[in-house]
Amino acid sequence: MTSQNCTLHDFSCFIQKNFSLPVSITLTDNRISMISVQRKLMSVNLRVHSMFLNAPQKVWDALVHFMKKPRKNHKEIIRDYINTYPLTCRPQKKRKVKLITKGSFFDLKEIFDEVNNEYFENNLSVLITYGRKIRKRKRVRYLRLGYYVYGKNLIYINRRLDAKYVPRLFVKFVIYHEMLHADMFNMGNEKRSVHHCREFKKRERLFNEYDEIQRMQERVIQKL
Ligand SMILES: [Zn+2]
Repeated sequence: MTSQNCTLHDFSCFIQKNFSLPVSITLTDNRISMISVQRKLMSVNLRVHSMFLNAPQKVWDALVHFMKKPRKNHKEIIRDYINTYPLTCRPQKKRKVKLITKGSFFDLKEIFDEVNNEYFENNLSVLITYGRKIRKRKRVRYLRLGYYVYGKNLIYINRRLDAKYVPRLFVKFVIYHEMLHADMFNMGNEKRSVHHCREFKKRERLFNEYDEIQRMQERVIQKL
């Protein structure tokens, strides 16, 4: 879909053209309610998300139909447009993440700094925190030890690693692994950093005690 480059004036002219009653348009950033139509005796009020200003013609057409009598296909066109609208253009809700780095056994920040010094020349600037506490291990096939959230530049480390039977070296490796994701993302390898591509694995093997980790990995994970 190609989008138009339109002003509110173009948009309201188009909408108005399709209605005999005056239409009052309010642009919003409300992502919960993208479109709301209020029919009054002598006018129509349309509150609509600003993303529709630059929507393709067919979305505008669907919007007009939607305002008159919503049908399935019009709703679908609108929904598709909302879903494909680039995330970066959406106003992001900033939620403050409380960073918890001190566990009962391991201080994530301390280990992070150590890895940053040993492998990244102290160049990596990423936040790190323990994830939420999970009481019981859910029956999952795959246990996520850590993950890097690209949008937040934040590494989460699974709380289960903060345990007596987990070797510090193992935690260090998990942190190293996530820092690699962050580093490769920063270098512009956004897509490649998501998966463990060959380059990623090559760098992963640069961890000094890589072989030792391979040997202990299964034993540690089984206990988690
Ligand atoms: Zn990974």
